[in-house]
Amino acid sequence: MNRPAFPSIPAFPARKPHWRWLLPALLIGLFLSTVLWLPWQAQRMESGERQEQLIADTLWVEQTIRFQFARDEESFRLIAAEIASGFTGAKLRDRLDVVVRSNRELSRLAQYDASGHLVLDVDDGSTAAAMVAVHGNPPPVLKIPQYSNPFPPPGRRAPFFMDYYVPLYAGETFVGTLVATYSLQDVLAEMVPWWFAQDNEIVMLDRDENAVAKRDSGGPGRGVYTHSRALDLPGNQLTLRTNSVKGTPKLMPSLLVASVIALSVGLAWSLWALWRDINRRLAAEGALRQQVAFRTAMENSLMTGLRARDLEGRVTYVNPAFCDMVGIPADELIGKRPPMPYWAPEALGEYQQRFSQVLAGRATPQYETVFLRANGERFPVLIFESPLVDETGRQTGWMGSILDISDRKKAEDLNRRQQEKLQSSARLATMGELASTLAHELNQPLAAISSYATGALNLVKNGKANREMLESALEKAAAQAQRAGQIIRSVHTFVKRREPSREPLTMHDLFNSLLPLVELQAREHFVATQIHIAPGLPRVLADRVLLEQVLLNLTRNAIEAMQHTAPERRILRMTAEADAAGVQASVVVSVIDHGHGIPQDVAERLFSPFFSTKAEGMGMGLNICRTAVEFHGGTLVYAPNPQGGTIFRFSLPALVEEAASAVQG
Ligand code: ADP
Repeated sequence: MNRPAFPSIPAFPARKPHWRWLLPALLIGLFLSTVLWLPWQAQRMESGERQEQLIADTLWVEQTIRFQFARDEESFRLIAAEIASGFTGAKLRDRLDVVVRSNRELSRLAQYDASGHLVLDVDDGSTAAAMVAVHGNPPPVLKIPQYSNPFPPPGRRAPFFMDYYVPLYAGETFVGTLVATYSLQDVLAEMVPWWFAQDNEIVMLDRDENAVAKRDSGGPGRGVYTHSRALDLPGNQLTLRTNSVKGTPKLMPSLLVASVIALSVGLAWSLWALWRDINRRLAAEGALRQQVAFRTAMENSLMTGLRARDLEGRVTYVNPAFCDMVGIPADELIGKRPPMPYWAPEALGEYQQRFSQVLAGRATPQYETVFLRANGERFPVLIFESPLVDETGRQTGWMGSILDISDRKKAEDLNRRQQEKLQSSARLATMGELASTLAHELNQPLAAISSYATGALNLVKNGKANREMLESALEKAAAQAQRAGQIIRSVHTFVKRREPSREPLTMHDLFNSLLPLVELQAREHFVATQIHIAPGLPRVLADRVLLEQVLLNLTRNAIEAMQHTAPERRILRMTAEADAAGVQASVVVSVIDHGHGIPQDVAERLFSPFFSTKAEGMGMGLNICRTAVEFHGGTLVYAPNPQGGTIFRFSLPALVEEAASAVQG
């Protein structure tokens, strides 16, 4: 048969190669390099900005100084003009004095005559001015105003000063020079704004790059951001060099560094955790895949049908064996609710009743029923139901294993039929053994009938017959004929092959019907029979013929065992007693003899088929007896008789309703 379509377990995707990590790794690399590049770029931009700022500020300072010098030059030119026009003496001194005091970068103002002699000299009274006063060089004769080179006071290396010479002309005649002396240190102190000085070291250099003045109130410059600016003055060139006290901007503020590091570490860790997690999952998936494959192979190879149902009775799973059994593909069964397509219509009631029990949570753990194949064929099944429990211990449905027991049933039937045949043959054999006895037994009534008939005939012939005599003879003949008929009937019923059928049976029934046959044998062997039936015994549900066969076998064995027993001890005793000791009340039948007993070597094989110690024995008697007793739900045992001989004993379960009253009785 073609296997019905069966849902296969989806194949898991194969493990992906390592390059699938490439993209995330690339992205993370990109992210990290961006994160690291950004502060660096920010630092570069910041330094660029700072440099530009410094250049702009330096320019601004240079302009300021230049502007101040220009203003001073203007005022000196005015004074020069005034001097040339005859403004001298005390008035000029006052005027110069005001100028010196109001311009703190100016240390001194002096007037020299045409021959270079000092005419007037005003200073700010500072030490610097005093130092300058002694340098006393005559000013050069110039056409236009001009600055001197920076110079230190005579005999000293610092501080530096710078003169501004304004030649005085009266018309075309040179009449002298106005000399303004600047303290270069003060020029820086006064002309450079404080906010600029705070952030920068400012150095003034002469033509030869010698520092002639310096202002570093904000601390020494770091040499990172520097700028030089020429301060071109007539007759002189000074350079203004600024050097910021600020260092290179830090690559990253520590918080930023910390967060970048934390972020990177966190990212790396989470990647690692993800990788580990994925690996674990892959391993678990692999194990699961193996498990599933193993289970699928197992389920597919099973001969037993498997069927799972949820709590509402809907089919959730069937294995191929089940589909094969009922001949319906899995996809037609899964999700189906009763009535099922494999339910035989005639047994619907039984199924429904069982199904409602399943719904109520009371599934019968094991039962036999009949299923219907798709081709209409019925087959017996044995079903085991067990609860289906999920991982939390909650019941989610029922799992049933279904066995097709058609073959077993057939074998059982065959076995039963053979057993019956065997029993019947055994009965025939028994009768064969009894044949001569039977013939003898039948001979007696037949002879009696014959003599009664002959006697009656003679009476009729002789004309002596009266009605009473004839009636008596015929009645006796009829009685003998009945007796013979009874023997024949009992032989017939005993031998007839038939289905076992049970009926309620009293021990009296059993013993009475059997007794004629038993006594036949007993008499032949000069054995006395004793029967004891305990009063008030319950009936048993039994097959009369089978039990007769058992008793006949046991009594025959007992009689044969007493062949060599002293005649006075040749007693066959049959008893029936109640036994309430077991789980169920029963009747115990014993067959007791005083025979030769059963030696150990015989005992071991006693119930084996075809075991016999007798020359013409078949060896099936006890084997059949035991099967027959067990068929009735009883047991057959034997024990040595304390008075010599053997006791064979078998029990038969009492009829339930009678057992209780019998025990009470
Ligand atoms: P068979 O009677 O044909 O030999 P059985 O199965 O009835 O077959 O008995 C098997 C053997 O058991 C007998 O041959 C005999 O040796 C022994 N046996 C059976 N019943 C008795 C008994 N009551 N006393 C002694 N031996 C017995």
